[in-house]
Amino acid sequence: MKRITIIGGGQSGLQLGLGLLKNGYEVRVVQNRTAEDIRGGRVMSSQCMFSNAVQHERDLGIDFWSDECPPVEGINFMVPAPDGNGRVIDWTGRLDRNAYSVDQRVKIPRWMTEFERLGGQMVIKDAGISDIELYAREDDLVVVASGKGEVGRLFERDASKSPYDKPQRALALTYVTGMTPRPEHSAVCFNLIPGVGEYFVFPALTTTGPCEIMVFEGVPGGPMDCWGEVKSPEQHLAKSKEILDTYLPWEAERCRNIELTDDNGILSGRFPPTVRHPVATLPSGAKVLGLGDAVCLNDPITGQGSNNAAKAAAVYLDRILARGEGEFDAEWMQGTFDAYWDYAQWVVQWTNMMLAPPPDFVLDLMGTASAEPRLAHRMANGFDDPRDFFPWFADPKAAQDYMAELEAA
Ligand SMILES: Cc1cc2nc3c(=O)[nH]c(=O)nc-3n(C[C@H](O)[C@H](O)[C@H](O)COP(=O)(O)OP(=O)(O)OC[C@H]3O[C@@H](n4cnc5c(N)ncnc54)[C@H](O)[C@@H]3O)c2cc1C
Repeated sequence: MKRITIIGGGQSGLQLGLGLLKNGYEVRVVQNRTAEDIRGGRVMSSQCMFSNAVQHERDLGIDFWSDECPPVEGINFMVPAPDGNGRVIDWTGRLDRNAYSVDQRVKIPRWMTEFERLGGQMVIKDAGISDIELYAREDDLVVVASGKGEVGRLFERDASKSPYDKPQRALALTYVTGMTPRPEHSAVCFNLIPGVGEYFVFPALTTTGPCEIMVFEGVPGGPMDCWGEVKSPEQHLAKSKEILDTYLPWEAERCRNIELTDDNGILSGRFPPTVRHPVATLPSGAKVLGLGDAVCLNDPITGQGSNNAAKAAAVYLDRILARGEGEFDAEWMQGTFDAYWDYAQWVVQWTNMMLAPPPDFVLDLMGTASAEPRLAHRMANGFDDPRDFFPWFADPKAAQDYMAELEAA
């Protein structure tokens, strides 16, 4: 049976590794932190995963949390009025199937244990090029799933698929308890503050139990690009509340009694969304294949990264199984990424669009959804499969035709 090494044990790497083990492959995962380090460390993501992505975990028998994780049942989209009084856009769409956010500090250590239980080899090491050379000599395939890790720079940036070369948002996460729930049903409450940024919030499961994750996306240089001056967890929480008090009073109202889940329940940073060429050549000439954020890194504004990682891992697993005894050569590697890109290109396009100021026809669509539940429902469920946003969310004529169709119906 073939031997495969995966560099990086995150959403994509471990999901693929577990899938391969369950199909009888010999698998080594190289992870640069122990399970204890991850569990006791900083939060890494808000990781809201929609149903199609979670289904891949269920198919492998590694969704251990859907029974205890508070579900996300809808998407609520809001734009505050320019004078701060009320909302000019406010619609909610129910998701056909619930989404879930399981803190990666909970998920990844559990998957690491499961991986070893199933006979996988877990190596704790920060893999460098010489390590990867060795793994490429020893094994039939090396997959690099190192997320935003430095080693991913092995893969050359693909300028034709990466319209931005700088970070488009200053990001922050605040994990809290004590937030007042939405009265109707749970949702990702997505607030777009024109020129300032976005704030979204939803229920999740963290190391201490249920919580809410607050995500801040500040336009660089704007008032929500403010995390540099924050020096402690207490200041981080205070800054989170100050932003809501200033721009989103209805969200501030839900947060009168919030507390951090733990001192590590905070994060801030920024990165440019980047797609890379998926096949890299090591100094020896050996080829390695990139997976997940290592080669397709999106801004979190549309909450797609973990979803993409899960879907990519599922595509790669199918391609590896289908290859049978055939060689994993460069052509097969490129074809494997291309099979994923058939899907991911739409996610990347939609996500990059959401980072730019919305054109008038998109504002029209968003506004119409406030009075048109079918549109709200479709937009909410588009988060589960963003291909459904095309062409009508990207092209003014298609948007007009679609709205006319809705009206006629
Ligand atoms: C602020 C923020 C909010 C987000 N919110 C969402 C959301 O709501 N929904 C969503 O779907 N996605 C979200 N994401 C994105 C999501 O977390 C990532 O896209 C996803 O985790 C990517 O999975 P991955 O397997 O590619 O990489 P990762 O999960 O990053 O895993 C990479 C692993 O490789 C390890 N590693 C790195 N370098 C090496 C090395 N040299 N040797 C060994 N190990 C190495 C890392 O330690 C890590 O364990 C968010 C991200 C951020 C930053």
